[in-house]
Amino acid sequence: MSTVTRLPRPILDNYAWQQKGLCRGRDVEQFFTDDPDQGRRARNDQTEAAKAVCAACPVVARCLQHALSVPEPFGIWGGTTAPERARMLWSVAG
Ligand code: SF4
Repeated sequence: MSTVTRLPRPILDNYAWQQKGLCRGRDVEQFFTDDPDQGRRARNDQTEAAKAVCAACPVVARCLQHALSVPEPFGIWGGTTAPERARMLWSVAG
Protein backbone atom coordinates (compact mmCIF):
# COMPACT_ATOMS: atom_id res chain seq x y z
CA MET A 1 0.00 0.00 0.00
CA SER A 2 1.12 3.54 -0.65
CA THR A 3 2.15 5.70 2.25
CA VAL A 4 -1.19 7.47 2.56
CA THR A 5 0.25 10.44 4.41
CA ARG A 6 2.49 11.10 1.43
CA LEU A 7 -0.32 11.14 -1.11
CA PRO A 8 -1.00 14.60 -2.59
CA ARG A 9 -3.98 16.42 -1.15
CA PRO A 10 -7.18 15.38 -2.96
CA ILE A 11 -7.53 18.49 -5.07
CA LEU A 12 -7.92 18.38 -8.83
CA ASP A 13 -4.59 20.06 -9.62
CA ASN A 14 -2.69 17.23 -7.94
CA TYR A 15 -4.37 14.54 -10.02
CA ALA A 16 -5.30 16.25 -13.30
CA TRP A 17 -2.30 14.65 -15.02
CA GLN A 18 -3.99 11.26 -14.63
CA GLN A 19 -6.67 12.40 -17.08
CA LYS A 20 -4.00 12.42 -19.81
CA GLY A 21 -2.54 8.99 -19.04
CA LEU A 22 -2.67 6.51 -21.90
CA CYS A 23 -3.59 3.80 -19.42
CA ARG A 24 -6.86 5.57 -18.75
CA GLY A 25 -9.70 3.33 -19.88
CA ARG A 26 -7.44 0.29 -20.24
CA ASP A 27 -7.71 -2.83 -18.15
CA VAL A 28 -5.98 -1.89 -14.89
CA GLU A 29 -4.80 -5.49 -14.52
CA GLN A 30 -2.39 -4.87 -17.40
CA PHE A 31 -0.41 -2.54 -15.13
CA PHE A 32 -0.34 -4.80 -12.08
CA THR A 33 1.70 -7.92 -12.69
CA ASP A 34 1.84 -9.13 -9.12
CA ASP A 35 -0.24 -12.29 -9.56
CA PRO A 36 1.85 -15.09 -8.00
CA ASP A 37 0.05 -17.68 -10.13
CA GLN A 38 1.12 -15.97 -13.33
CA GLY A 39 4.11 -17.57 -15.03
CA ARG A 40 7.34 -15.65 -15.48
CA ARG A 41 7.03 -15.41 -19.26
CA ALA A 42 3.43 -14.18 -19.08
CA ARG A 43 4.40 -11.66 -16.40
CA ASN A 44 7.35 -10.40 -18.46
CA ASP A 45 5.15 -10.07 -21.57
CA GLN A 46 2.54 -8.18 -19.57
CA THR A 47 5.16 -5.90 -18.03
CA GLU A 48 6.67 -5.09 -21.41
CA ALA A 49 3.23 -4.39 -22.89
CA ALA A 50 2.45 -1.99 -20.04
CA LYS A 51 5.84 -0.30 -20.39
CA ALA A 52 5.20 0.17 -24.12
CA VAL A 53 2.01 2.06 -23.27
CA CYS A 54 3.92 4.21 -20.77
CA ALA A 55 6.67 4.93 -23.32
CA ALA A 56 4.17 6.77 -25.49
CA CYS A 57 2.34 8.44 -22.59
CA PRO A 58 2.46 12.26 -22.46
CA VAL A 59 2.57 12.29 -18.64
CA VAL A 60 5.16 9.57 -18.08
CA ALA A 61 7.55 11.88 -16.18
CA ARG A 62 4.79 13.19 -13.91
CA CYS A 63 3.54 9.65 -13.31
CA LEU A 64 7.01 8.46 -12.31
CA GLN A 65 7.44 11.48 -10.05
CA HIS A 66 4.19 10.59 -8.30
CA ALA A 67 5.11 6.91 -7.95
CA LEU A 68 8.49 7.76 -6.41
CA SER A 69 7.13 10.39 -4.04
CA VAL A 70 4.29 8.31 -2.57
CA PRO A 71 5.95 5.72 -3.04
CA GLU A 72 3.75 3.31 -5.01
CA PRO A 73 4.78 -0.24 -3.98
CA PHE A 74 2.87 -2.10 -6.70
CA GLY A 75 2.29 -1.93 -10.42
CA ILE A 76 3.74 -0.20 -13.44
CA TRP A 77 3.93 3.57 -13.01
CA GLY A 78 5.82 5.94 -15.26
CA GLY A 79 7.23 3.04 -17.25
CA THR A 80 8.83 1.39 -14.22
CA THR A 81 8.12 -1.67 -12.13
CA ALA A 82 7.96 -1.55 -8.33
CA PRO A 83 11.44 -3.16 -7.96
CA GLU A 84 12.89 -0.67 -10.45
CA ARG A 85 11.45 2.22 -8.46
CA ALA A 86 12.76 0.75 -5.22
CA ARG A 87 16.25 0.62 -6.73
CA MET A 88 15.91 4.24 -7.86
CA LEU A 89 14.94 5.31 -4.35
CA TRP A 90 17.74 3.29 -2.75
CA SER A 91 20.31 4.79 -5.12
CA VAL A 92 19.19 8.30 -4.17
CA ALA A 93 19.11 7.50 -0.45
CA GLY A 94 22.40 5.61 -0.42
S1 SF4 B 1 3.07 6.63 -17.58
FE1 SF4 B 1 2.03 4.64 -17.79
S2 SF4 B 1 1.02 4.27 -15.82
FE2 SF4 B 1 1.58 6.45 -15.90
S3 SF4 B 1 -0.25 7.52 -16.66
FE3 SF4 B 1 1.04 7.04 -18.43
S4 SF4 B 1 0.34 5.07 -19.22
FE4 SF4 B 1 -0.49 5.30 -17.14
